[in-house]
Amino acid sequence: MNVEEIASQLISMQTEAPPGNEEECAAYLRDYLLDQKIENCEVILHRFAEKRANLVARIGPMGQAGLLLSGHIDVVPVGSLAGWDSHPFEPKIREGKLYGRGAADMKGGVAAIVKAIESTKNLQLKRGIVFVATAGEEIGFDGLRALIRDKQIRENDALFGVIGEPTNLRVVRAHKGGTLFRITFHGRSAHSSRPDLGVNAIENAARFIVELKSLRNKLEDIKDPDLGSSVISSTIIKGGVKENVIPASCQIIVDCRRIPSHSDKYILSELEQISNNLKASYGSFELTIEEIFSSDALNTPKDHPLVKMAEDLVAEESGVAPYGTEAPLYQQLGIPTIILGPGSVEQAHVINEYVEIKQLHRAEIIYKELVKRVCVK
Ligand SMILES: [Zn+2]
Repeated sequence: MNVEEIASQLISMQTEAPPGNEEECAAYLRDYLLDQKIENCEVILHRFAEKRANLVARIGPMGQAGLLLSGHIDVVPVGSLAGWDSHPFEPKIREGKLYGRGAADMKGGVAAIVKAIESTKNLQLKRGIVFVATAGEEIGFDGLRALIRDKQIRENDALFGVIGEPTNLRVVRAHKGGTLFRITFHGRSAHSSRPDLGVNAIENAARFIVELKSLRNKLEDIKDPDLGSSVISSTIIKGGVKENVIPASCQIIVDCRRIPSHSDKYILSELEQISNNLKASYGSFELTIEEIFSSDALNTPKDHPLVKMAEDLVAEESGVAPYGTEAPLYQQLGIPTIILGPGSVEQAHVINEYVEIKQLHRAEIIYKELVKRVCVK
């Protein structure tokens, strides 16, 4: 099968996350790789929840860590079919483009990686390759987190990592990290005719939200040469039960996009500082702060040998991405990682998502060349 045929097969399997249902897709990849009869190829279907699975394949000598190639097999939900020219799970090729949910993000990239792995049949590998197809990337990386928890991916498992997320085949070496906090304000209910008898949780949330602006200004003082500043915003607010009741509870979500200088613990301490200041000013000010998601920044150095090698292959300078990926989880395992894949991020998560077939072919060639440079020479 060629790369667009594999991509089409993957697109036809519905892996919208939530809920995920990636097991069928992981099993397809397992069977495809086993059918290739590649020497020294160990394939593990890693089931971590009902109908949910990752796939890990290890090819070649494993004593010597080599290249990790990774991509996710879940996609974002389609929602309404309105606006789609063809069904999102019935892949169609029109005018050199493959259409379908996940064509760019990122079943096209996974298919190109699979072709590169298939090509190792004819190679004498000096270093091993690890192929990881992850579930649940779009819902907080639960698949990869389970793989790491279960020691299916280990520290220093490879010299270099490449994730085939859509970058239009440019090399991305850095992106911000992200942390979400859920903040619950605890007040006391009272009849709205007697606000003095209660503690208005919505008013306290409002005070906090105003103070976030000063934290945002403070964060702006530190600039990363690649990524700019950390930013913080409140993005969701929920509170109140009835129009004539002083609300006893209010909840907000605070979204922080962090540069490497700002850890999630640092941001948490700043939020606690705001809370302490407000407590000092208002007395009846109670809240609980929970971190509900966190992912670190990716910061593979500009002059890292992996970046240099990949830049040389695509004949273009590396850059940074506005979005987050699973790469920081590999980075934490001591595997320097870049993002490099077919398709445009503008095509990710949109109606009539597509990937250009010629980019799929180019991606296949680039991944094959990476395998040669890291694992053969
Ligand atoms: Zn993606």
